[in-house]
Amino acid sequence: MDKIIRCITSDGAVMATAIDASDIVFTAKKLHNLSRSSTAALGRLLCAASMMGNMLKQNDAFINLRVLGDGEMGAVVAVADSRGNVRGYVENPQAATEYYNSGKINVAKAVGKNGTLSVLRDYGTGDPYIGQVELVSGEIAEDITNYFATSEQIPTVCALGVLVDREDGEVLLAGGLIIQLLPGAFDDTIDKLEKNVSKLEPVTTMLAKGMSILDICKTALEGFEVEVLDEYPVNYTCGCSREKLERYFMTMSDGDIRSMADEKGEAEAVCQFCNKKYVFTKDDLEALIAEKNS
Ligand SMILES: [Zn+2]
Repeated sequence: MDKIIRCITSDGAVMATAIDASDIVFTAKKLHNLSRSSTAALGRLLCAASMMGNMLKQNDAFINLRVLGDGEMGAVVAVADSRGNVRGYVENPQAATEYYNSGKINVAKAVGKNGTLSVLRDYGTGDPYIGQVELVSGEIAEDITNYFATSEQIPTVCALGVLVDREDGEVLLAGGLIIQLLPGAFDDTIDKLEKNVSKLEPVTTMLAKGMSILDICKTALEGFEVEVLDEYPVNYTCGCSREKLERYFMTMSDGDIRSMADEKGEAEAVCQFCNKKYVFTKDDLEALIAEKNS
């Protein structure tokens, strides 16, 4: 089962969040029938969204990350609640896969290096805070790091990894780590942290060794006293429902609702996050129009 953990150094100077999202990314790959590069891109963004969602305090808060580069991937979208439960999709699930010499998937090639990362945070008030930065690499982790540095002025280290079987394209492991300096950190803290980060192995390498997410945080924070703030199970979850769709339809005009029905007199809506299909008959649509106007 996937898990997310948040740790803080006892001097309150550094926060570390780590996730094992292997099942989440496995589920996303299966749901959307993703190519290797699309799996890696969406998987990384799902890890980031889950960790950033988990940082939100309010119960009904959520975060929406959207990467849109000039590669053939198109938009990559991930949405997480404040527990870190997450869902997402990519515009082109079958983006071509190229590899670096190291054997790693060239995510930047598929995503594109020119474009934007948008971050929408809603604290449950319906009045979201939106930040946007230019992509700096298209590899996603660097783009998240840059977002925190430029948009929120929080010095951040972000590592995201998805290990895909080169033969059959299955997800073997996926995970992430975000380390943040909190206000008031001293220079020696920064030096110590930089040393730790420079020798940190990729997250999937650490997971493959059997390290827990707590082990990963402790390794990143070596030399500090570490306290666990919380640890939760996390899942790929979609909150879509027929009722939510109906509420959305009710915001449309009568004519637009009627025009959704096809020759067979049915309207079909497919959730882009989980591919669940909802069918509304002509009678269902008329009933909605009647309720809307009552
Ligand atoms: Zn859904």
